[in-house]
Amino acid sequence: MSAHDGLDNDCIFCKIIRCEIPSFKIFEDDSVFSFMDINPVAPGHSLVIPKFHTPNIFEAPDIWAAATVNGIQRLARAVKETLNPDGINILQANGPGAAQSVFHLHMHVVPRWADDDVKMNWGISPGDMDAIGKLAKQISKNVN
Ligand code: AMP
Ligand code: ZN
Repeated sequence: MSAHDGLDNDCIFCKIIRCEIPSFKIFEDDSVFSFMDINPVAPGHSLVIPKFHTPNIFEAPDIWAAATVNGIQRLARAVKETLNPDGINILQANGPGAAQSVFHLHMHVVPRWADDDVKMNWGISPGDMDAIGKLAKQISKNVN
């Protein structure tokens, strides 16, 4: 970690923030940087990252998590205005089990069209209400 600016010299997204490697920038402000994903799952697939190196949602300081959400709202509105998709999914992965591949907090904007074949829809089927209620109690005990 670099002491003076909160960025990590070895992180690919920190290098993008510093313009040490190229990106298709969409916007930036004091807190966030937004750019196109170069392996897009759909046209307009784009990212927002905080200008602070933190690996995931668990470790992110509140202020950086909030800045990232504000940034994704700005990006989603701009993508909607530009492409007019049928919908937009906002995604954010934490850990390899969730297919996180870059360990600098980031949120995805994924534009969706009714006939696309993006595999992200799990459909709606009712769960076991006893099990759901039990988990709600267990999780609520761990909210700090
Ligand atoms: P995730 O799987 O949630 O960690 O997402 C990381 C995303 O970063 C992937 O969708 C990659 O395509 C994208 N990505 C990785 N390197 C770059 C890069 N240099 N420029 C733009 N997008 C990148
Ligand atoms: Zn980083």
